[in-house]
Parts: sequence; structure tokens; C-alpha cells
Amino acid sequence: MAAPQVSIVIPVYNEEPGLPALFARLYPALDALHRSYEVIFVNDGSRDRSAALLREQFHQRPDVTRVVLFNANYGQHTAIVAGFERCRGEQIVTLDADLQNPPEEIGKLLAAMDAGHDYVGGVRRTREDSWWRRAASRSMNRLRERTTHIRMTDQGCMLRAYSREIVDCVAASREVSTYIPALAYTFASKPTEVEVAHEERAAGESKYSLYQLIRLNFDLITGFSLVPLQLFSMFGMAVSAVALVLYVIVMIYRLFFAEWHGALNAIWDRDILAFFLIGMVLFGLGLIGEYVGRIYQQVRERPRYSIRAVLERGEQDLPDARMPATDRVPVRRAP
Ligand code: UDP
Ligand code: MG
Repeated sequence: MAAPQVSIVIPVYNEEPGLPALFARLYPALDALHRSYEVIFVNDGSRDRSAALLREQFHQRPDVTRVVLFNANYGQHTAIVAGFERCRGEQIVTLDADLQNPPEEIGKLLAAMDAGHDYVGGVRRTREDSWWRRAASRSMNRLRERTTHIRMTDQGCMLRAYSREIVDCVAASREVSTYIPALAYTFASKPTEVEVAHEERAAGESKYSLYQLIRLNFDLITGFSLVPLQLFSMFGMAVSAVALVLYVIVMIYRLFFAEWHGALNAIWDRDILAFFLIGMVLFGLGLIGEYVGRIYQQVRERPRYSIRAVLERGEQDLPDARMPATDRVPVRRAP
């Protein structure tokens, strides 16, 4: 295969109910762009028949389809990195597999790339998610704007386009836990945003629980900013200063105005102060743990994922017998 102009990278995790609809809309939308393209699906260890459907699709359109099958679930962003490491297009577009990002909007992103931008973020015009998801992401957006240099109107939108240079940088980053749109942004020289439509999930359900969303946002803040750590030391310093001043005042009054003694003893409540400080220390320990944990992950330098098979022209396909039963399908051999 000659290198195509455009690579589409799509992470897939338990998307069996929605994949047929995705294939039916994605390929015609890409054909309509009149650019050479490849679609790279990364199956992130789905437990349903997603891998089988992807194999089937590969055999239907082997000229433009490539499939990476992880052997376990490593997360959406790791799946995207795997796609980035293999894609060959000059313009790379990421997309969700659940049709929440309409494939018909890809042309808009590419037009902005043609206009000279190296990073195009999608901004969802109307967001078809639950109210708490929208509220949570609004406040996380605000927090990120304050604590990092990353400017994105809609950090949750995965319909984005990147230049080859940016994708190479992301692929070369040996970071373990990362948030691709933010990491890519740090390499961008001329970023822009375009409005895109957003639809309700075509089928299946969201793969993110509230806890995972909190983790993801924690990664985003601690991954790109030291502000939490610095805020903590600022806070600690302020508290110590106040405590010191209070202590001096109490000492002076005790020495010179003995009759004030009782009133000031009430303010100088050691138990409350102790609890307060213990809480602060624990909070600080947790924060330090967060950074130490990242260092720990980094120094281990584990491979971020392991691949069971890659389906593309010229590659050796795994014999069906070695695939788990769910992935085995009777398929036509690629011509
Ligand atoms: N995804 C993945 N691995 C995961 C979780 C999600 O590859 O561990 C994929 C999923 O198949 C979809 C995309 O990431 O293509 C976004 O997931 P989802 O739609 O569940 O997230 P939401 O839209 O609810 O934020
Ligand atoms: Mg979704």
C-alpha cells in the first residue's frame, strides 16, 4: 500500500452493536472526500464480538482498512497511541467508534488542516450526553484552563485532526498515562478549532464510569501541570505563617495582659489545629504519591500494550485456531 493522504484512527472497545452502522457511514463519508485514506481500528481488548466484526470488515475493504488487535483492555488513549504508531497519512483524524462523532464531519477538519493548521480540535455544537457529564466537563474545562497552558474549548471531543509531525511526537513520547488531545496540543504550532455535530450513542453504552472520568481528569491535570503540588506548598506556607503570627500574639497577651488569657485560650484550640494540620499532611502525602506514582510508572518503562495480531495487506494474519472463539469468523481471503 502506498502511503495515503489521510489516516483515520478509531479505538474500539465492546462496540459490537454499533460497528455495522459505523462501517456503513464511515466508508461512504471517506470515499466522498476524494482523498486517499486508510482506517486503522484498534480493538482495545473487547470482550464481545467487536474483533470478529473488525476482521470481517478488514476482509471486505483490505485496501483501506487496517486492524490492530490488543490482547487486553489498555484504555482509549493507549489504543489511539497504537494507531498513531502505525498510521502513515499526512493528516490523521481520531474518531470514536460509537458514531457520537459523525464521520461526515471529517471533511471540515481536513479543510482546516488544508488551510495550514497542524491541530484541529472539534467542538461539539450540541452535546448529546447526560446533564452531569456536561456539568462535570464544563468545570473540568475551567480548572484545566487555569492550571495548564492547554487551550481547548471542548476537551472531551475526540473528533480531532493532527499533522504527521504532531502524531510522530505523540508516538515518540514515552509517557504511560496520557490524554492524547492535550499531549498533542503541546506539540502544535498553529492549533485551531471547528464546530462539529454530536449525536447520541448509536448503540451500546458509555465505557466511562464516574470514577474513570475523575481519574482521567486527574491524569490531565497532574500530567500537564505542577500547580496542584505548588498550590499545596503555598497553602502550607500560608497556614504556617498564620499559625506563627497567632502564636506570637498569644504569647504577648499572656505576658502582658493576663486577664485576656481565658478568651485567647479558646481561639488557640490545639485539637482543632491538630486535626487541620493532620488533614493537610495527608492531603499533601496523597499529592506527592500521585507524582511519585507517575515516576514509578515511568521508570518501569513497560511496553504500553501488547498486540495479538495486525490485519493489513502484506502482514501475516494469525491462524484462526489461535484466536479466541469469539474472534473466529469464516472470512473471505483478501485478494
Ligand atoms: N474505548 C476504548 N477503550 C476503553 C474505553 C473506550 O477503546 O477502555 C473507546 C470506545 O470504544 C469509543 C471511544 O473509546 O470508541 C469513546 O468511548 P465512549 O463512547 O464510551 O466514551 P464517551 O463518549 O462516553 O465519553
Ligand atoms: Mg461516546
